[in-house]
Parts: sequence; C-alpha cells; structure tokens
Amino acid sequence: MSGNPVSHSRPDPVRALCLFSGGLDSQLAVCVLREQGIEARGAVFQSEFFDQRPSIRAARALGLPLETLDFNADILELIRKPKHGFGSGMNPCIDCHARMIRRAGEWMDANGFHLIATGEVAGQRPMSQGRGTLQVVARESGYGDRLLRPLSALLLPATVPEQEGWVDRNRLLAIEGRSRKPQIELAKRFGLKEYPQPAGGCLLTDPTYSLKLRELAEHEGLDPRWIARMRMGRQFRVLGARLVVGRNQAENTKLESAAGPGDLLLRATDRVGPTGLMAEGASDEQLRLAGALLARYTDAPAGDTIRVSVEGGPGRTFEAQAMTPENVDGYRV
Ligand code: SF4
Repeated sequence: MSGNPVSHSRPDPVRALCLFSGGLDSQLAVCVLREQGIEARGAVFQSEFFDQRPSIRAARALGLPLETLDFNADILELIRKPKHGFGSGMNPCIDCHARMIRRAGEWMDANGFHLIATGEVAGQRPMSQGRGTLQVVARESGYGDRLLRPLSALLLPATVPEQEGWVDRNRLLAIEGRSRKPQIELAKRFGLKEYPQPAGGCLLTDPTYSLKLRELAEHEGLDPRWIARMRMGRQFRVLGARLVVGRNQAENTKLESAAGPGDLLLRATDRVGPTGLMAEGASDEQLRLAGALLARYTDAPAGDTIRVSVEGGPGRTFEAQAMTPENVDGYRV
C-alpha cells in the first residue's frame, strides 16, 4: 500500500514515526516500541484547531525528538468534505486520522523511517477507534501495511513490520475498550507520571467552538485568516459583516498585524478605545453599527458620539454613537 518498497532484512536501527498527541496512549506506544530497541520519533500536527503544547511537553519529558507537520490545508479540506462525517462537533475524526497517517507515511518514506505507530486503542472511542474503524483508517491512509498500533496490535491483523520481524509482535499488547486501567498499570511500569486527558487538545470537538466555526463558514467560508481571528477579540455579526474588537492592547496589536489587503481597521480618534477589524466593502449602515459597537468599548458613556477612523479601502472618518451594553448582546457571535 505505502510508497516505498519493503526491505526484507531487519533494518538497524528500526525507526518508527509515532503520532504523538502527548496523551497517555501515545506516550505508552513510544515506550512499548523503545522497550524492544526501536528508535522512536514523535510527529505532532499543526493547525489553528490543535494545541501542540501537550505534545511538546510530553516529548520533552520522554526525551523524544518531535517533528511538526503542517496540517492546516488538510484539516480545512476535511472539514469542507468529511467523507465519514463529523463527531459531536465539527471534528471529522475518521478522515482526520487517516490523513494524519498518510502525512506521517509520506514523512516516513522521505526520511528513511520504517513504520508509523499510533497510540490508538481498539474500542476506546466509539466513532474513531472501533476495531472496524481502525481498519478503515488504515486502508484509507494508504499506509496500512506499515501502520502499527502497539497497544492493540494483537487484536488486529499483523502488519509488515511484524511479519518481517522488525517488531516483535509477542511484545505488543491487546488492550481494548474504554477502561483506562490497563494503560494506568502500564504507565506505572514505565514510570510515566504526567499525562493530559485524551483528545483534550482539539477545538473541533468543542460544541461551542464548532457552532461558532459553522457560523463563520456560512458567511466568510473557512477562510484561514478569519479562523485565526476567532481567537483575537470579541466577535460580532453586524448586518452580515464580521467585526472583531480587541479586548486589550495585546489583542489590538494582533488585529493590526493580522489586517491585510481587503481589510478595514476601525479606531476611535478622540477617545481611548480598542481596534476593530472588518472586511473591506462594508456598507455605510454596517460601518455605522460597527462604529457604535466599537464606541461601546471606548471610555465614552452610552449614547455619546465619538469619531471613528477607517484605515484601508478608501479610508474615511465618521461619527458613531456608543451603543448600550444591552444592545451589544444582539450582535455577538
Ligand atoms: S479530535 Fe481533532 S485532531 Fe483528533 S482526530 Fe478528531 S478532528 Fe482530528
């Protein structure tokens, strides 16, 4: 299935690229492989939706070299068209696993590694890790023949690394199901003390974030610039236009650096207040409302008139009346 021809002699050392979330299962998969002398390297995927910090922390604690693989374009493509659908949020987990394994496989081929490993446990998560699903993921990744799940390997068909004797199958495990007991026992054996909760680091599994992302997708599409801006301040929908207003100086600075061609920056010229960002092409009515929202977060009392400057597009200044806090809520995303 995978790209490079399989060598039949045992490589020395055998090198495994391990998908490494930093959660307990991924740490255990590394330990199980290392125990039989396999050289392990971690892979962490980078996108707006994932938190890489648990991987980095855990890799440091294990002394595991870590590769960062850019997954931004992949995850957006999968969210747009999830062949296997979504989980409870906008998380296309089956497609996402398969794609991550494919990317890891490509890296493996390009860097002289011999197998890919994951910490997946059969039956642990009903949607993405049922035994059948693990097989679907293996097949669709295109690298199933060199994809090893050390924690559940004995419940799955033997892969090339096992058949060829690169990995001793007898020293792999048959963990299955949702109980964490076997993993906790194993963690004790390997002396692992700190591990984050499983799947804690993906925003796409968060129902509230997913609703907001859906809302963004309906209006701005899944534009990576606007996805990044979801983290940069208060979010409003003003007669169909998105407005982001900084909550503090750090966010104002972020918004100013994020603005590019096609964007407008709004600022109060006669008051202390935040920066606002919206897309060029906003109508007078949208700008007037955006100005009123922006004014609410200046030091002007509700109802007072301030001057707002617009940077970008033709540029202009106009007057806006600070909105009352109660009215603001109707425009929040
Ligand atoms: S939880 Fe997020 S990162 Fe993990 S497989 Fe699902 S979509 Fe991908």
